[in-house]
Amino acid sequence: MFFAFAAIPLPQNNCFYFSERIQVIDLEGFKMTTIQDITHFLEQLAPLTYQESYDNAGLIVGDAQQTVTNILISLDVTEAVVEEAVAKNCNLIVAHHPIVFKGLKKLNGRNYVERTVIKAIKNDVTIYAIHTNLDNVTGGVNDKIAERLGLQRVKILAPKSDILLKLVSFAPVADAPKVLEALHDAGAGQIGNYDRCSFSVEGDGTFRPNDKANPYIGSANAIETVREQRFEVIFPAYLQTKVLNALKNAHPYEEVAYYVSALQNQYQEVGAGAIGDLETPLLAAEFLAMLKQAMNLNVIKHTALVKERVQKVAVCGGAGGFLLADAIRSGADVFVTADYKYHEYFDADGRIIICDIGHYESEVFTKELLQQYISRKFVNFAPILSETNTNPVSYYI
Ligand SMILES: [Zn+2]
Repeated sequence: MFFAFAAIPLPQNNCFYFSERIQVIDLEGFKMTTIQDITHFLEQLAPLTYQESYDNAGLIVGDAQQTVTNILISLDVTEAVVEEAVAKNCNLIVAHHPIVFKGLKKLNGRNYVERTVIKAIKNDVTIYAIHTNLDNVTGGVNDKIAERLGLQRVKILAPKSDILLKLVSFAPVADAPKVLEALHDAGAGQIGNYDRCSFSVEGDGTFRPNDKANPYIGSANAIETVREQRFEVIFPAYLQTKVLNALKNAHPYEEVAYYVSALQNQYQEVGAGAIGDLETPLLAAEFLAMLKQAMNLNVIKHTALVKERVQKVAVCGGAGGFLLADAIRSGADVFVTADYKYHEYFDADGRIIICDIGHYESEVFTKELLQQYISRKFVNFAPILSETNTNPVSYYI
């Protein structure tokens, strides 16, 4: 893909003039980048289907067909963030937390949610949220925390089940490789750090075409036996349409035989929290000092330092208390998260050190993560990190 700077002709009063504003165009497709181009990309990183049931991630306000002027990246959206977007000529705000969670029945500016939405609409600013779907994927919010802490061998703490499907199909031996290739190109057969995974075995397929059939092999009303390859691949459910279309497009048969079945396997790529190891164990007090510095913290609320040394560390950005049992079961010495309530700290029960670092503080580096992803893919933008501090919590020290 090749980009260049150019003056864009804009229609005005039935004639054309050249805009003063220099914009960036994609010469390959001669097409401006739209909000939708950005949101499609973000949804490849963190499919919306991976958001929790209570969540409201996705395009919240605005028109996805608009051309992007620039992008402001923030943790929350407030009126001040919308004002910052306008001041910095950004018509897209990519935020971690959705400004609208529940339905809005009235829009008259009585609370900060309504006022923020009204201000965004009035100023043609689009708001997109990438929330628990980004919490739940490899390379998401928790991997960013793990990276800040220097954790190694990081994996998802509580992988989800009931996400994977298995496809079994059959093709003449000579045609099978190209069909498998199409399935792999569509994203099937990816397991952890391995892709293009499949299993195949040869056997005999039989069929009898009727008068209306247009068979690739064989003829009407005659039983045919064909040496075929049976192959199987797994893929996440959200890719089902894409994978089945790839199968049918690449397969030579008029009628393609296949089975899709649901798997109960955990999917290591999707789930809550993350766990990894420090390269070298630290004394518990040293770990707290490192955590404070790495996450730029004012304060850490923690339970008793029941582990002399810390090596295995579980993390979860935001309110992660629901993962305590997983952290203990995984052998973590420490669980770094936020939003703990008084009685919940007792659940550490001498088995782990809980560190509550604050919700905002645990997730604020998500902004950098999104900036890195977007700027690597869309080289024509330099997404801006919001400078508005949206943390509603202040510390008096
Ligand atoms: Zn959060």
